[in-house]
Amino acid sequence: MPIATINPATGETLKTFESLTEQQLEEKLAHAANAFRSYRKTSFADREPLMFRAAEILEAEKQKFARLMTIEMGKPIKGAVQEVEKCALVCRYYVENARRHLADEVVETNASRSYVHFQPLGPVLAVMPWNFPFWQVFRFAAPALMAGNVGLLKHASNVPQCALAIEEVFLRAGFPEGAFQTLLIGSDVVERLIKDPRVAAATLTGSEPAGRSVAGIAGKEIKKTVLELGGSDPFIVMATAQMEQAVTTAVKARTINSGQSCIAAKRFIVSSAIYVEFERRFIAEMKALKVGDPLKESTDIGPLATQQILKDVDDQVKTSVAAGAHILTGGKRLERAGNFYEPTVLTNIPTDSPAYCEEVFGPVALLFRVNSVDDAITLANNTTFGLGAAAWTNDAQEQRRFIEELEAGCVFINGMVASDPRLPFGGIKNSGYGRELGEFGIREFVNAKTIWINQ
Ligand code: NAP
Repeated sequence: MPIATINPATGETLKTFESLTEQQLEEKLAHAANAFRSYRKTSFADREPLMFRAAEILEAEKQKFARLMTIEMGKPIKGAVQEVEKCALVCRYYVENARRHLADEVVETNASRSYVHFQPLGPVLAVMPWNFPFWQVFRFAAPALMAGNVGLLKHASNVPQCALAIEEVFLRAGFPEGAFQTLLIGSDVVERLIKDPRVAAATLTGSEPAGRSVAGIAGKEIKKTVLELGGSDPFIVMATAQMEQAVTTAVKARTINSGQSCIAAKRFIVSSAIYVEFERRFIAEMKALKVGDPLKESTDIGPLATQQILKDVDDQVKTSVAAGAHILTGGKRLERAGNFYEPTVLTNIPTDSPAYCEEVFGPVALLFRVNSVDDAITLANNTTFGLGAAAWTNDAQEQRRFIEELEAGCVFINGMVASDPRLPFGGIKNSGYGRELGEFGIREFVNAKTIWINQ
């Protein structure tokens, strides 16, 4: 992919960038290694004001950063502003909690004193996706930097200006040069980076093939990885659910970020007792969404981020319909410039069709009807993914079963799956491994060093 800003609402190429030369890359790696030597010795008290300042910069300039995201990947502007605010929140969360999460943990043994002491690993490579161009990076960088690591960002090739803007935020916040660097490179350079002895670990948020590749290379190098990959989250609605809230939340959960979210609800599994009513309301609310210019405050759904994603979604829908799926609304791209796709609802989805088996990364909802809680759980778990799951029910026993039996990194009852700086986030099965955010997140890229002292 070229490293370029191509406005997905118009198709216009606004700016292109050269990939770093090998010599430039070498300088940045040396810089990271040097920076780590001194940065690792800084205390939490040294790091906290820097991360606090990063939060302040984000908040003060949120409109500018939001606009950059919208122009590079088409995110509706109101969501983009919220994304920047959430980045400030995660910076503040780790300002307030990093020192507690990484405090020495005393363990009673036969030693005079024994404890676990947490130390940073070194330069961590972050391979990041375009769909939340600021949030994905900050949720890696805030804990990694607060733990004393340094960051190397290989961002998606379609959001280079976001990548550079983030580097600048950390520099302006006062982090030492080399503590966080953006590398404008293609994905073909990732292998060389993981193999470099100065890179201590890697994290990737993105697709399953990219995750397999990065994990495979890092595995051979015996380097720690965290993988945040795709999802096909179920959204289950049982008979006791509050219907109006469930429908409105379901539509939001599917169409947030124009449908391009790993934790978007993608499969709606509805009890037959309320199915007809749910379907009617769901279609009506999907039809009412405003698709259009992502820079307008009133827009609900913008363009898909690239022409390729538009083509992929269109192909998945067409192939699934050819295999027998029914279109209840939408089902095609909009006849206008830019990568716009209609909010779409499919039903009667064959189990071997792409809509059933693959992650659909656009505003396409799949409706399923089930007769029992057993069927709902079986269908929900019938996927290779295991990122998030939402279940709507006011029956305590059903709630317990969903919590225990849904195969996912999180279960939200009567709500929509969302990330929160305070709670761990991540998946199981082909959605990846490891956790971001909360205490679990900051402990991924540290050495939990056992200390044993006999006086
Ligand atoms: P992608 O194609 O995998 O790209 C993600 C990043 O990986 C980009 O920086 C990309 O670089 C790089 N990349 C691609 N192939 C690679 C390879 N073989 N080796 C090393 N790096 C590689 O994913 P995407 O289409 O941009 O993002 C959407 C996917 O991310 C969806 O599956 C979504 O569910 C997932 N996602 C997961 C989470 C989560 O937290 N679990 C969050 C957000 C998104 P280039 O841009 O240069 O190709």
